[in-house]
Amino acid sequence: MKSFSTKGIVLIVCLTLVLVGAWRYRAGRDWTPTLTINTPHYTIYSSATPEQTETVGKIADSLYDAYGAFLSSLNLSVKHKGIHKMKLFATREEFRNHNLITDWAEAFYQKPYCYQYFSEEERNPYHWMIHEATHQLNQEVANLSVSKWVDEGLADYFGSSCIISNRLVIGTIDPNTYPVWWLHLLAKSGDLEADKMNGSVIPLRAIISASGGPNIDESFNLYYLHWWSLMHFLLHGEAGKYRDGVSRIMTGESDVEGFEKHFGPIEAIEIEWYAYVLELKRKEL
Ligand SMILES: [Zn+2]
Repeated sequence: MKSFSTKGIVLIVCLTLVLVGAWRYRAGRDWTPTLTINTPHYTIYSSATPEQTETVGKIADSLYDAYGAFLSSLNLSVKHKGIHKMKLFATREEFRNHNLITDWAEAFYQKPYCYQYFSEEERNPYHWMIHEATHQLNQEVANLSVSKWVDEGLADYFGSSCIISNRLVIGTIDPNTYPVWWLHLLAKSGDLEADKMNGSVIPLRAIISASGGPNIDESFNLYYLHWWSLMHFLLHGEAGKYRDGVSRIMTGESDVEGFEKHFGPIEAIEIEWYAYVLELKRKEL
């Protein structure tokens, strides 16, 4: 009986991988938008309904305006003006199938597009889009080159703001957004040191340095809670005294050294941030 040589088996495995890869690639390319709309700041390729697409366009423009106003409030300027691109999928299933998503991503930004679906079943169907579109603005409008905690913190800050009459009101907090709906996971005991021990607080030094904390794939909700609440605290806590520092880290160093230069010792900020988190929890967001 003829048997396969090792070379033959390797060839068959390789061919199989190539065919599977080709199929997956084709699956990833076979999406045709049913409509394209242009707004003042975005071109949106969409398979969602015309009404959903128009609304997403309005909210995205509102984000763009809020982002510009935010930059000016920090004395920062728009570095680049242009039209930004989005792909809006009708359903979560379509979004995941087309983009071959196998992990927890609900939207993502990969230059030049923001990819998201219209999450009709959520009370706030826009927060995933706003999060990713903020990453897009961080890169394409403000040309930021910042540490992950700043990039994610800003995306969470905008993504978790309330939308009132189709307008994004930054600084407000919508409890029906990610990661705010996981707030109960943060600071469980009410005592900073105890919470570091029980794992419901990650030391801010680990957050800023992006090292020494728990495995991010296992604790991603907790990381997002830290990024969001730290940015919210720096922009609104302590009567806004850290806003100038935020402006400086957005244009300069945002590593541990930069953080301590602009805000002071991390462990001192950690105590104030922790009190701010407890206050947010007390308000039962
Ligand atoms: Zn993000």
